[in-house]
Amino acid sequence: MCGVLGIFSTEAVIGPMYTGLLTLQHRGQDSAGILTYDGRYHVKKGNGLVRDIFAERHIERLKGAVGLGHTRYPTVGEGTGEDAQPFWLNHPYGIAAAHNGNVVNFFELKKELFEKSHKIINSNCDVEVILNVFAEALERTARGEITPDAVFAAVRQVYRRVKGSYSVVCHIADRGMVGFRDPYGLRPLLFGVDRRQMVPAFAFASESVTLDLLGFGDIRDVPPGSAIFIDQNRTLHERTLQTAPFRPCIFEYIYFARPDSYLNGINVYQARVDLGRKLARRIQKSGMEIDVVVPVPDSSRPAAIEIARILKLKYREGLVKNRYIGRTFIMPGDHVRQRTIRQKLNPIADVFRDQNVLIVDDSIVRGNTSRSIIQMVRQAGARSVSFVSYSAPLTHPCVYGIDMQTRSEFIASGLGDAEVAARIGADRVLFQDIRDMVQAVRRQNPAIRTFCTACFSGEYPTRDVSRGYLEQIEQEREQLKLKQKDLALTF
Ligand code: 5GP
Ligand code: SF4
Ligand code: MG
Repeated sequence: MCGVLGIFSTEAVIGPMYTGLLTLQHRGQDSAGILTYDGRYHVKKGNGLVRDIFAERHIERLKGAVGLGHTRYPTVGEGTGEDAQPFWLNHPYGIAAAHNGNVVNFFELKKELFEKSHKIINSNCDVEVILNVFAEALERTARGEITPDAVFAAVRQVYRRVKGSYSVVCHIADRGMVGFRDPYGLRPLLFGVDRRQMVPAFAFASESVTLDLLGFGDIRDVPPGSAIFIDQNRTLHERTLQTAPFRPCIFEYIYFARPDSYLNGINVYQARVDLGRKLARRIQKSGMEIDVVVPVPDSSRPAAIEIARILKLKYREGLVKNRYIGRTFIMPGDHVRQRTIRQKLNPIADVFRDQNVLIVDDSIVRGNTSRSIIQMVRQAGARSVSFVSYSAPLTHPCVYGIDMQTRSEFIASGLGDAEVAARIGADRVLFQDIRDMVQAVRRQNPAIRTFCTACFSGEYPTRDVSRGYLEQIEQEREQLKLKQKDLALTF
């Protein structure tokens, strides 16, 4: 899962690029990068948080009115500085790209590019493959002149060859900027125009909040299977190039995206409220005994408030989060994660003492977070602890850009609610029903018939996810985990 940003302006972009990346930090804390263009490319990328990577000397160096930026959480492969985005090539013209997603046929394409086109892919980063496929196609379609038709034909080639999920922003030196989304629209990509100056500026970003905060207007989603090209004269060209069933990732609403973002016409905060409302009905039917509703901050707060309101129960912020630690899940390696959970959340004993507690979270993945929380809450004197998840049980790995685990790691895989409860030490556990989950999220935009729900259902919308591929990513992740275990034990 990553954040991308592209700005096409007439004024220095480094300020808005930096501010914009800060608004996308939650989408990846592993590495980040900014590339600018003023007749040549300037790049700075590194490991860690945006605020730690860019020093004043880099900011001064990143000159130009065009910028691409990225915040990265590693998907397949390890997060090294070399894999950080954006990437650029010097041919044709000079062409740079950043993306969010995961290319399912990365290794096939890497091999093909080497054998057929004699191009070496030097990183384990998907965007390098996308960029090469796009550049190769553009050279063929443009025949010396980059027209909108040539750009769209090149994007069509990317759709034909690159499988998986990708939202991409590309800059073509002195020719323009193009943003496109894979045919299923798995990952988000928004587009906006800033008309406050004489000459408008354009931008693409993974979340609406970024565009909003930077003062861009007319914010809208890039449609799935479509590209928007801004040429050097600032004329906008848009085309739908390939259609497939629209399957945006449902997890954006559950957990990833910021609550103030609007993705595919759905506000993330409101989606979480609606998820809470659906879950409240299930809780009501279950006959759980509850005195107080407590959210696991921050993602589940809107749902927990709604549950308490509907069930007419007391709502308390009983778990206090140290906001300087970062997303626990995003810390690579299970060992590091386990240790950071306790440092991240602390219970307020008086909220829990002698109470039947309902803890609300967005999801239960491995069960480490929930187990630690339940233990804390019991130690604080709770009479009973029920734990509910406003998403359905996670059972399958994500192959579209989210570092979800191998099947064996999902605690709910193959287990019923009572067994999950026993494993995490809860008196009761309740998950959202998958149909209710889909219904709740689509309420704001019923034109979306359904979402990608593969990590809950095992139905991979792109249909090119073979058992072999799943086994391969599981093996890679197992190996990576072993390495990280060693690492975690040494610091
Ligand atoms: P676990 O059950 O693995 O210990 O952790 C579940 C917690 O991880 C939830 O509170 C959820 O907010 C958080 N989380 C962070 N990142 C992710 C992610 O990529 N996927 C899922 N499902 N949960 C995540
Ligand atoms: Fe999103 Fe899950 Fe689909 Fe991955 S598998 S894209 S996390 S819904
Ligand atoms: Mg959480």
